[in-house]
Amino acid sequence: MRPQRNVVRESPGDTIAAISTVAGNGAIAIVRVSGERALDVANAIFEGVSLADVPTHTVHHGRIVDDEGKPVDEVLATVMRAPRSYTTEDMVEFGCHGGHLPAREVLAAALRAGARLARRGEFTERAFLAGRLDLVQAEAVADVVASRTRRGLELALGQLAGGLSGELDELRDNMLSFRAEVESLIDFSDEDLPAATTENIAALGRSAIGRVDELLERCELGAAVRDGVTVAIVGRPNVGKSSLMNALLERDRAIVTSLPGTTRDAVEDYLHVSGVAVRLIDTAGWREGRDVAERAGVDRAKAAAAGADVVILVLDGSEALQAEDVAVCRALDAGHTLVAINKTDLAGALALEDVSGVVPPGYLGPIEVSAREGTGLRGLRDAIFSAAVGCDQLGSAHVTNVRHVDALQRCRGSLASAVERLEAGGESELVAQDIAYASEALGTVTGETTPDDVLKRVFERFCVGK
Ligand code: GDP
Repeated sequence: MRPQRNVVRESPGDTIAAISTVAGNGAIAIVRVSGERALDVANAIFEGVSLADVPTHTVHHGRIVDDEGKPVDEVLATVMRAPRSYTTEDMVEFGCHGGHLPAREVLAAALRAGARLARRGEFTERAFLAGRLDLVQAEAVADVVASRTRRGLELALGQLAGGLSGELDELRDNMLSFRAEVESLIDFSDEDLPAATTENIAALGRSAIGRVDELLERCELGAAVRDGVTVAIVGRPNVGKSSLMNALLERDRAIVTSLPGTTRDAVEDYLHVSGVAVRLIDTAGWREGRDVAERAGVDRAKAAAAGADVVILVLDGSEALQAEDVAVCRALDAGHTLVAINKTDLAGALALEDVSGVVPPGYLGPIEVSAREGTGLRGLRDAIFSAAVGCDQLGSAHVTNVRHVDALQRCRGSLASAVERLEAGGESELVAQDIAYASEALGTVTGETTPDDVLKRVFERFCVGK
């Protein structure tokens, strides 16, 4: 358990209640009550056993009654006593009948019995304030709820289980050793200092910077996993863009005909690649006349590339490179372009030397595929994944949060300035101060030094009842 934050609650000890399941019809709904008086509140509205007297972590069947003793719903009450509950306080969860009304009536009864309505994320906030979760883990709770991909869910669960917190703790230990060594220099005068000592101490600082860099490097990956990536398919008309999109999606989504210019508008759909959500956009191959077509193709490629994380440039492997291909290639920016040579089931007429002469530098591929035969698609999917997340493998602890990235960058900046100052023979007090700034920045990630307004924003991301 982490050190508790020294924060004064609006009304310490008050008991909160909320509906924790989504509004609408469902099989069951859950009303949560948490706080010092949770058992009293629950007992006042529950008819069955006396909830104040039952052992912790037990479930009891009974009825909720209103002020006049009229039954409101039949429920299962789960009792969890402090400190073994989500919030670390006494908690009772009522499993009511689904649908909006029963849960609302049960909540209303709890409020009348002395609970107050919980704010967004207040249950999790209480767990955080009690030191049961650090801020990274509390944010992971929101990420678990908001996960859209299996891999995103896995990452959020890893973060909730303390994967990232553990790495941050190690980093904090590194920084503490660095600072302790620097402080031990304070009593020496400059002349007495052996150069080797300074160098050894600077090495500690550099190793901490290395750890921060590792965490930062994984940011891009984390963001891709959490938010998904946009992939645009571009190329001149008739190279097989729509066919390739359908082949990747394994269903017919875009219209395919042998007439150039069939795809009149950008078509988009989602696909999952190794757990990352990919928004796939097939750009239209307008053709209203040769020159217009060329210009329109280029404009569309540009527009699609501008908003995409990865661009798949499709070329027709059965034909020589054409002026329109070259025009589309030129419209694309360097990096994040993946070249796919389609129609490899037909006799090849496309010269690879010609391709490498016109595609943007730093492109990935070329990947040979046949949308018609379905060959090469696995390689294409792997290449999309690599291009989107910048590496082939996903590790365990990832920084998926913009707030964390910002704090880690500040931490890195202060550490770098500490090392620089130390090596330049600067005053040890100032070096120690730099490290203190770095520690403070790191503390904002786990929540030890996070300003209250930031905390407020973090918990506002949650829904009521979480
Ligand atoms: P788009 O204009 O780039 O979207 O191209 P389409 O997907 O509409 O395809 C144009 C034509 O090429 C259609 O007749 C497709 O059947 C054909 N085509 C697409 N992919 C392949 C392929 O891999 N092999 C062969 N032989 N034909 C293909």
